[in-house]
Amino acid sequence: MALIFIGKSVCPICKNVLHEGEAITGFPAFVPNNKDPIYFFNDGGFHQECVPKHEFGNLALKSVSLDYEKVDYTRKICLVSKERIAEMDDYFNTGLLTSDEHEPLYPYNFITLHKKYIKDWELKEDLLQKLIAFKENDRWNDYFGGRLLDDMIETIKNPIP
Ligand SMILES: [Zn+2]
Repeated sequence: MALIFIGKSVCPICKNVLHEGEAITGFPAFVPNNKDPIYFFNDGGFHQECVPKHEFGNLALKSVSLDYEKVDYTRKICLVSKERIAEMDDYFNTGLLTSDEHEPLYPYNFITLHKKYIKDWELKEDLLQKLIAFKENDRWNDYFGGRLLDDMIETIKNPIP
């Protein structure tokens, strides 16, 4: 969750300081793609009442709730095996690929798989083609210069046999 200093941090929407006693919405770092319109909300703290006033505020709220609905981080259930993913090394999650529900990648947000079962997933090729197209259309950039998307592509391309 965003690091918020009450009495010091500024709400990026109204530019006023977040004060004690005010209702505050903190977003986690859930938007890896800095070309996504809701990247503005990534890892940020806002007045609760300011969020819906921003043109992408409601979209950000909806997208962050997808995260909590689709991924139970305490259990991490693999889509293929339906088993719990115990080891972090086995864990594959697409995260938020796009907040745009008209985008072909949208159904693939927050897909959770054991890395060893990627090869058995019937949609892996479809996701791979869509990720490659997203990259080629220059729709993605992240904190690591695009490496998060590249790693995802490589992991699906070369699944554990
Ligand atoms: Zn505000």
